Amino acid sequence: MKISRRHLLQYAASASALAATGAIPAALTSAFADEPRRVIPWKNWSGGQSCTPALRSVPESEAELAELVARSATPIRAVGAGHSFSPLVPTEGTLVSLDRLSGYVSHNAATHRATFKAGTRLGAMAAMLAGNGLALDNMPDINKQTIAGAISTATHGTGAELGSLSSFVTDLRLVTAAGETLDCNGGNADLLNAARVSLGALGIVTETTMQARPLYKLKRRTWVAPVEEMLEQAPELWAKHRNFEFYYVPYSGMTIGIINDETDDAETPEPVNEDDDGLRQLQQLQEWLGWAPSARRWVIQTIMDGMEPEERVDYSHKTLSAERNVRFNEMEYHLPREAGPEALREIVATIEDNNIEVFFPIEFRTTAPDDAWLSPFYKRESCSIAVHRFHEADYTPYFSAIEPIFHKHDGRPHWGKLNTLKAADFAALYPKWNDFLEVRAELDPEGKFLNPNLRDVFGV
Ligand SMILES: Cc1cc2nc3c(=O)[nH]c(=O)nc-3n(C[C@H](O)[C@H](O)[C@H](O)COP(=O)(O)OP(=O)(O)OC[C@H]3O[C@@H](n4cnc5c(N)ncnc54)[C@H](O)[C@@H]3O)c2cc1C
Repeated sequence: MKISRRHLLQYAASASALAATGAIPAALTSAFADEPRRVIPWKNWSGGQSCTPALRSVPESEAELAELVARSATPIRAVGAGHSFSPLVPTEGTLVSLDRLSGYVSHNAATHRATFKAGTRLGAMAAMLAGNGLALDNMPDINKQTIAGAISTATHGTGAELGSLSSFVTDLRLVTAAGETLDCNGGNADLLNAARVSLGALGIVTETTMQARPLYKLKRRTWVAPVEEMLEQAPELWAKHRNFEFYYVPYSGMTIGIINDETDDAETPEPVNEDDDGLRQLQQLQEWLGWAPSARRWVIQTIMDGMEPEERVDYSHKTLSAERNVRFNEMEYHLPREAGPEALREIVATIEDNNIEVFFPIEFRTTAPDDAWLSPFYKRESCSIAVHRFHEADYTPYFSAIEPIFHKHDGRPHWGKLNTLKAADFAALYPKWNDFLEVRAELDPEGKFLNPNLRDVFGV
């Protein structure tokens, strides 16, 4: 492993500057400055993935990034906000962050397209769009991710007619393995469709243009309903409302439904930010009453019966994304939409018949089809079901009981979330799999952008 002294010093200098902005912890950078050869471990948000890269780089410019990539003799992985649960990021080579390549570039007032540097966090992007009277058509549950990280795994929100974030990308720029920049847009649509969801395997995305729309407000309504009632109404609810999702609370027979519809009503005051969405309470109930499912069910039902429907009006980016303060690991699969309700019934039965230890609610969402080759929504109306396990607990017994249900229904896993599929499985699930592999091999013949997990995923 050859570590260039120049890059180390550059890292130390840029890292201390960055630490001053609070973007990365000062302790981490000062340790690096004092001991330039000390490696800095990395771990993801849940703590489930980690690595000790030989070099960590935070380039200041696209040119610096291109030079780093061109000269690197070892594997390179890009990291965004580290919010993926699957092992997409870990590398023993070079880990590149685009924290310094972030911010607004420009927008076109006529087409409502806005260009951002790819390291921009979704929350900052949404605020900058709002400042220009614009918003995206949809947002995920949280807004901490970077644009590049979010689109690389087809991050999505909910809405039967609304695509994933990757589907909003009209243009993007990559630094390829050769250290060259490559613009992907409507002029080379195949390349754009390969690059819009690429797991960081085609190159490092430095800039993206997103299709936005004029700023809009949403009225968000939440209510409680028994699971069968919610499942029976689900097709009508996803057809009728702009954004529909629900959570099933394990061992309760009850769900919480959430719908958002456009409105011109005045904004309501922001609700007090509850630290944990009631998760600690559910965790305690599991600890106290896990041995007595009927009692646990009665207590949760009693609490939920007392929950009044709620309404909130605010700009879309404020109602669609929230905070997640309790850490977890997650598996989420995207299924053919019509299979969703039945799959959820099977999941609930599997958990409750086998007394599987879980307190996190199960999330049910919908997403519109798109054309990105590795998008799990590729030409398929989808519904997504996500299961979560507290970050300190072993998720394998739970996830391995549920995953076969997703497979049975032809589910495609969220790229950023845990799953056990291999290359042959993906080849069967993705019609454009081989086309993607060809583009990958052409742009990165030596596998510079691969880590052991991606070698497994692509079978190379
Ligand atoms: C609390 C929480 C809530 C979540 N909510 C949702 C949700 O509502 N909907 C949903 O779909 N997902 C959700 N996710 C998953 C998350 O959106 C995805 O895993 C997303 O990819 C994370 O983005 P990131 O910036 O953290 O990227 P990372 O996790 O750091 O990286 C993800 C991938 O992007 C690649 N990458 C990063 N930057 C670049 C770059 N510049 N160029 C090329 N490749 C790059 C990485 O190499 C990696 O392959 C959630 C995750 C958490 C932890």
